[in-house]
Amino acid sequence: MQTVTVLGATGSIGCNTLDVINRHPEKYRVFAITGNSQLELLMEQAQKCAPRYVVIADDANYKLACELASQYEVDAEILAGAKALEEVSSAPEVDAVMAAIVGAAGLLPTLAAVKAGKRVLLANKEALVMSGALFIEAANQSGAEILPIDSEHNAIFQCLPHDYEYGNLAASGIRKILLTGSGGPFRERSLDSFSSITIDEASTHPNWSMGRKITIDSATMMNKGLEFIEACWLFGAGADDIDVVIHPQSIIHSMVQYVDGSVIAQMGNPDMRTPIAYGLAHPERIEAGVTPLDFSDIANFSFQTPCFERYPNLKLAIDACKEGQCATTRVNASNEVAVEAFLEGKIQFCDIAKVNDATLNAMPYVSVNSIQQILEQDSLARAKANEIIRGKFQC
Ligand code: NAD
Ligand code: MG
Repeated sequence: MQTVTVLGATGSIGCNTLDVINRHPEKYRVFAITGNSQLELLMEQAQKCAPRYVVIADDANYKLACELASQYEVDAEILAGAKALEEVSSAPEVDAVMAAIVGAAGLLPTLAAVKAGKRVLLANKEALVMSGALFIEAANQSGAEILPIDSEHNAIFQCLPHDYEYGNLAASGIRKILLTGSGGPFRERSLDSFSSITIDEASTHPNWSMGRKITIDSATMMNKGLEFIEACWLFGAGADDIDVVIHPQSIIHSMVQYVDGSVIAQMGNPDMRTPIAYGLAHPERIEAGVTPLDFSDIANFSFQTPCFERYPNLKLAIDACKEGQCATTRVNASNEVAVEAFLEGKIQFCDIAKVNDATLNAMPYVSVNSIQQILEQDSLARAKANEIIRGKFQC
């Protein structure tokens, strides 16, 4: 029996995680679930999975959460605030933590799980993008097992040899890691019409059903840029070891190319329950509720190279990856602000990359060697991005 904390339980990954867990009551027990909004949903989840703790991220909602808990007849203890998120991630009873909070807000609770040596199911890519070296060092020190949940990284993990030595691609005969992405909803849209892209158009992904922020990131391909950085840290790869390949059907989730000419791909229907089940059960396999892939249904299997004119955010993230930790923290922070501004109707779709570019160019890079310094760079970049939006881009 494994005891699991689900951070971000009310989100897309969180709901899928509870779905997989509920299929295997004999294997998994839920220790804690956490959420920031949708408190009714959180209580419904608590009714079903009976956790020991329900954690509300925002202290201000504590009273409301307690009222809801008694209304829903939830027995769990209600906790609130940032410290409580860290506590349920690092409690001694916990074996595995699903890190599925979106954005920088997930950094500290995810790191708490890493430092406590848990099995960390990493969906929250922003945490790794921000803290890269410190995150990996903390995992090495504590012995935490990091299992990638992002479908691409989960695929790469599955395509690597079992004895893969972190950072030593050559020793395993690896030529390239091929990171695939669908190209999003605007892969074929004429560039002239990008200025008229609406929030609804950008919020509709052709293949995946996901949270709001990652859906916009997929449309700009910032998501692939963040994944590029994530892959470098997860596998100890350099920027030159990774190629991004557009594969519109999202059936191949990524590939590893070997020096002998072999390419190993991981495939499946686009359903996050596959990597979630893999992460929960590794090294075993468990039923995930995913429709099996039927090759007679697949009419096309195509590939193309991404064009940076169409996806300037992808280039910004790859450049930030080459630049270092300060740049990756800033690009992530700026992007969170810009995506929020787009979703609030304050800037246009094309402005997201312009805001990110202007934020990165506004300040010289400094070296960052501690979580404190990372959080400072995150705040600095947010303030700069907001200033740029107010001054230049607001519609
Ligand atoms: P989502 O928006 O659907 O859910 C986010 C969760 O985080 C919710 O439970 C929300 O309450 C919680 N949250 C939001 N702000 C918070 C805060 N300030 N403090 C604490 N909790 C907060 O997002 P999602 O699509 O489930 O994505 C979660 C993470 O997984 C992201 O980092 C995303 O990049 C990654 N991911 C998602 C998918 C997917 O298919 N959805 C795929 C790969 C990776
Ligand atoms: Mg992904």
